[in-house]
Amino acid sequence: MQWWINAKLATCSATPLPADSYYAIGVSEGYIQQLVPMSDWSEIKANQTEASVMDVNGRLVTPGLIDCHTHLVFAGHRAEEFEKRLNGVSYAEISRQGGGILSTVRATRSASFDELMESSTPRLLALMSEGVTTVEIKSGYGLNLETELKMLKVARALGDKYPVRVKTTLLAAHALPEEFKGRSDDYIDWVCREAIPAAAGEGLADAVDVFCESIAFSPEQCQKVFEAAVHYGLPIKGHMEQLTLTGGSKLAASYQALSVDHVEYLDEEGVAAIAASGTVATILPGAFYFLRERQLPPIELLRRYEVPIALASDLNPGSSPLASLRLMLNMSSTLFGLTPQENLVGVTRHAAKALNEENRLGQLQEGFAADFIVWDLQHPAQLSYQFGTQDLYQRVIHGAVSNDF
Ligand SMILES: [Zn+2]
Repeated sequence: MQWWINAKLATCSATPLPADSYYAIGVSEGYIQQLVPMSDWSEIKANQTEASVMDVNGRLVTPGLIDCHTHLVFAGHRAEEFEKRLNGVSYAEISRQGGGILSTVRATRSASFDELMESSTPRLLALMSEGVTTVEIKSGYGLNLETELKMLKVARALGDKYPVRVKTTLLAAHALPEEFKGRSDDYIDWVCREAIPAAAGEGLADAVDVFCESIAFSPEQCQKVFEAAVHYGLPIKGHMEQLTLTGGSKLAASYQALSVDHVEYLDEEGVAAIAASGTVATILPGAFYFLRERQLPPIELLRRYEVPIALASDLNPGSSPLASLRLMLNMSSTLFGLTPQENLVGVTRHAAKALNEENRLGQLQEGFAADFIVWDLQHPAQLSYQFGTQDLYQRVIHGAVSNDF
């Protein structure tokens, strides 16, 4: 057994341990086997013949952080578009000049597998260096079979190459590709008949996502995608109520969605629906900030209905080119008023639930995966309060220390 002793724990479980005590964490075979108060440690130590012991000297230990919503695999960037907008060029004009999401689609289609690995790696490493041990990565810049699958394969390969868990999501219903212009129903039929069966058949997707919005796909179209996902045994998620209230969250709830994400315009009926289905509401403060949105997500309603709230980076080239989950913790408090405790649970236990991993990841609990972070911090609120400081002391994933990658 391997032990980490004198740890101050933020377990992020529903039944927290007394806050002022220090604990020993016993790990073997990649899982947390024992959590014992230090007052009992000397007795346990006496019976340990082959134990290795790491004294963390009262440092804070939390579960490894989980970024449960990213689009971090893509080619190119949209910095020129960003600059044009700030020079007064309208969004419509940028679109006419070939900008927007379809410019990322063109770049991603023409990038090779290796080029995509190379361009995505710094973004992944940035998240990992801040304490992320699990990351969700979506497709959605291919919008054809070859590139959607290529993106998912790159995501899986990143998880094989680096000490991080990767969960993949097929987001073929992200935008309408140029070749289907004016034929969005045909495109959705293609998603259902070709993209979902192929991704499911090759075991490349852990979930299926949609962008349900006035500028993307209608609830009726998203429902077709959900039906196909269910048929192939894949859980569903949705980009919902970001710019308008479409009713997408209510629809997603009727399919027991893992999560509905953005949710700025979600109403009480939608909140009640996701509360009943056990769906996580994932808030994305980076996109809210970057797009200079005004409509705040209905945090009070979500609290009142006890909806689990996760938060994530939404790392993507168009609306959240921000490779930092720690920044999201800070923004979640400063922009949306979440408490530091809500934030921490939002990037651990609730984020795990949004990825269908609530029984394995996101908590310091006996029987859970030994993914945790030892911080050079004393109080969990520091994770939300400060930003840009190098606070990570040790990163442990599946029971192995992996600070260097
Ligand atoms: Zn997104």
